[in-house]
Amino acid sequence: MMDDGFDRMEKTCTNCGKEFVTPCGDWAFKKYKGRGYQYFCSWKCIRAWEKEHEKPARKIDEREKIIQALSDGLSVKEVSVLLNVDASKVSYWKKRMVRENV
Ligand SMILES: [Zn+2]
Repeated sequence: MMDDGFDRMEKTCTNCGKEFVTPCGDWAFKKYKGRGYQYFCSWKCIRAWEKEHEKPARKIDEREKIIQALSDGLSVKEVSVLLNVDASKVSYWKKRMVRENV
């Protein structure tokens, strides 16, 4: 359902559970999640909720996997195939590992 009118809406904050009224139908601290929006009473609450519930970005995940595999002694090509990432990306992290002496 689209809330595109200008009626005030009563919402419950996803983070702290406080009930609040949005100034107009279209404006609110909200995040799209699954089948609909989640509403938040303040920017502070949206950030707090994100910190608690959002998974770390995939990029960080991938970088850690690359470094882990390289530490295990796999070659750039093996890591590239294993993790399905570009070989240039793997060699970039390998170079960084050498430089930083990880
Ligand atoms: Zn709140």
